[in-house]
Amino acid sequence: MKIIKKSNLIHSISIKHKDIGFVPTMGALHQGHISLIKKSKEKSKKTIVSIFVNPKQFNKKKDFITYPNNLQNDLSICKKLKVDYVFIPNTQEIYRWNDKKILTPKINNIMEEKFRKGHLNGVLAVMSKFLSIVKCSKIYMGKKDYQQLNLIKNLIKLNKIKCSIVACKTIRMKNGGALSSRNLLLSNDALLVVGKVYRFLKLYKKNGGKLSLVRSELRKIGVKKIDYIKLINLLNFKEVKKISSNTNIFIAYYLNGVRLIDNL
Ligand code: AMP
Repeated sequence: MKIIKKSNLIHSISIKHKDIGFVPTMGALHQGHISLIKKSKEKSKKTIVSIFVNPKQFNKKKDFITYPNNLQNDLSICKKLKVDYVFIPNTQEIYRWNDKKILTPKINNIMEEKFRKGHLNGVLAVMSKFLSIVKCSKIYMGKKDYQQLNLIKNLIKLNKIKCSIVACKTIRMKNGGALSSRNLLLSNDALLVVGKVYRFLKLYKKNGGKLSLVRSELRKIGVKKIDYIKLINLLNFKEVKKISSNTNIFIAYYLNGVRLIDNL
């Protein structure tokens, strides 16, 4: 496994290979990330994992400063998984990279765009750079961040980039809650609530009902602050009132002051 810090070096390596799988991450790796890396190892000839906590996608300074950071552990996980290259650039390495102008897709003003102003623009900024630096044929991304995944798909399509997104299923804790690097910031009690939220949403998806009542039900199981809970048609990413075959339920909420998202 090679550790690369320079953009021009990973760029020249990536253009030498035809079948590269790329797994962009912000580190503090868990089983969710591991599942993406394993998929890439299975389907692509070479695997590049990036670990970069992108300041531009944090709309709150405190969230950026407290974001979990565990580089040595991350590197040993990547080594065990036989990752070919780990790319760990600093902010300058990414943002001083000169790329040709890239078109940016429209972002619908719902969910993350509405409640985390600037977040998805920051994701677009970093992914635009990554797509120019790391020439890959596949990018492995998690459905846990569905709106982000959808946006990057649009970015690739709009710019006719020869690269496809492999959408990977959400890996969950035993209690059903989605794994997230931010879970490291939660108390054991809060982790139990994460599981309860998942089980509640599952039941809701099965039985339907009024979302306004869901909010009060969620309060009863310990969720005091909810940014949104919405039914979204995955084909056009618009809000719908009833569940059908293309509908996912999306939630963003806070526990211990930590913002969490999930969808199913
Ligand atoms: P992050 O490090 O949080 O930026 O995530 C890096 C990638 O891992 C993104 O494509 C995420 O969607 C994906 N990811 C995060 N959590 C999970 C999970 N629990 N299951 C599957 N993929 C995940």
